[in-house]
Amino acid sequence: MGYLDSGHCPMLKAGNCSVYVSRPSTCRTFDCRVLAATGLFIDGRWSERINERVKAWEFSFSSEQARQRLRAMKDAACFFQKNAAAFPGGRVPTGPASVAVLAIKVHPVFLAIEADASPREIAEAIIAESRRVEERAGQGL
Ligand code: SF4
Repeated sequence: MGYLDSGHCPMLKAGNCSVYVSRPSTCRTFDCRVLAATGLFIDGRWSERINERVKAWEFSFSSEQARQRLRAMKDAACFFQKNAAAFPGGRVPTGPASVAVLAIKVHPVFLAIEADASPREIAEAIIAESRRVEERAGQGL
């Protein structure tokens, strides 16, 4: 749906969702743990309350692999924030929630990437991973 110049959703009216009953699936399934997992916080109205909740989450790990996955999610979020120019047209999401969701989606890239990979190579791997995830979702996998 995009965002208003203020950064708010166009469906937000007088502090409430004007389409709450039929809100998009992203809104229905949003979980603030995506922010906690990626080390991100939000700005703007409601941010204090939401960020308090985000800070309260603590993760426990059943394995070293699980710990590395969380690290990869944070690395992915950091990469988007610092390397927009590595993507075609410099286009990457900028809102914390959008960055967090995308970082989680493509974090496997950061588990497998070579240490000497360039930002452009990492961006290409992210785009490919994102397409793979979309294709799997389209096939109901
Ligand atoms: S719940 Fe979704 S559609 Fe409704 S105001 Fe919030 S972001 Fe917009």
